[in-house]
Amino acid sequence: MIDELEHKYFCILPWIHLNININGDVTPCCRIQPDVKYGSTHTDNLTDIWKSAEVKKFRNEVLSQNNKNSCKDCTQIDKTNGLSHRSVSNFVFKKHFHRSLNDSHTEIFPTYLDIRFSNVCNLKCRTCSSKYSTGWYSETNRIENTNHIEPIRLTENFNELWSSFHKILTQVESIYFAGGEPLLQDEHFLFLEKLIEHKLTHIKLTYNTNLTHLNYKNWNALDIWKNFKSVSVSASLDGHGEIAQYLRKGHQWQQIESNINKIKKQSLEIYFAIHITVSVLNVFRIPASIRFWLDHGFVTDANQLVINFVEHPKYYNINILNDREIESLKKIYLDSKESFVLPSGLNISDGINIKLSHILAKLSQEQQLEQRSEFRRITQELDKLRNENTSLIIPELEALMTEDTF
Ligand code: SF4
Repeated sequence: MIDELEHKYFCILPWIHLNININGDVTPCCRIQPDVKYGSTHTDNLTDIWKSAEVKKFRNEVLSQNNKNSCKDCTQIDKTNGLSHRSVSNFVFKKHFHRSLNDSHTEIFPTYLDIRFSNVCNLKCRTCSSKYSTGWYSETNRIENTNHIEPIRLTENFNELWSSFHKILTQVESIYFAGGEPLLQDEHFLFLEKLIEHKLTHIKLTYNTNLTHLNYKNWNALDIWKNFKSVSVSASLDGHGEIAQYLRKGHQWQQIESNINKIKKQSLEIYFAIHITVSVLNVFRIPASIRFWLDHGFVTDANQLVINFVEHPKYYNINILNDREIESLKKIYLDSKESFVLPSGLNISDGINIKLSHILAKLSQEQQLEQRSEFRRITQELDKLRNENTSLIIPELEALMTEDTF
């Protein structure tokens, strides 16, 4: 058995997982550095990719601890005691550790797939881009003088894609769908229909969604999910109310609340979690949003709150805060301690404060003050295009928005 303490870069994913991106690239996971790639669905079928020399090579890199650079996202998060994709995967898939002891890749197919069908999305979140959302196209075209029109799609021929997938699904236990926005994509719903038709409803479905829509064309996600044994929905929410609408431009907050309530009222038990993308734009408001979500019963357990950090673009990283801002942030977090109580009276402050301390721990990394002017330039440009005023919506950033020098 692999000893994680002796092998600190060990990750189980290369033995059990494939990440299939919207451009067809197949990689070890969604956090890997861009130069690591197993193959492409445009030129190879998934079975051949899974059995390829590239997969074997990356496994050997992991076993010989030479994956430090390829896996630097996880390594950095682990350094601040955060929850890296590696540590979560090693915990969730521990029962598969034995697979890494021999080279069994030709006999055992993946257990877990991450599929992204396209960048079709209705929102233009501040920290996102046209690479991941068609909602960004018109603004990117204006700002960068580009000409984005068509979405990037994993396939134009769904039936062909399904035949490539079909063989590799035999041992899959769970599939993660992200986007773009999976609940607004034909391919996603067609894929679920195929899973039902082929009696693959034991596969656990997990989602990262902006939760703006549960209905799309003739499909209703809640109705289709009833066919599956297990569904887990993670909503990407970076705040609540006005700041949520500012950060994830294009939705009405009340619609999100209504959809969360619909999910929670389902007879099918759907595990619900909130994924918070922490950036300089929302870092001051996170305790208040967590309190709101607890008060409204959206989450009842600290484990339902998952923290991710924006690393790129660098100007949204919380490490652009100066010393004065860091001190005021620490005070906000300190003042919120002990105040995370559920409507039932249950105090879950300990679990939440661990999450908040991970955010503060990130501030101990090197400051990137040189990014402040770029933050200001981009934010002012977007404010103008969107007719918004960041300093008014987030007064905590007023100095950052107005300073001449740093
Ligand atoms: S260590 Fe992180 S980056 Fe590397 S394969 Fe595992 S999850 Fe991906």
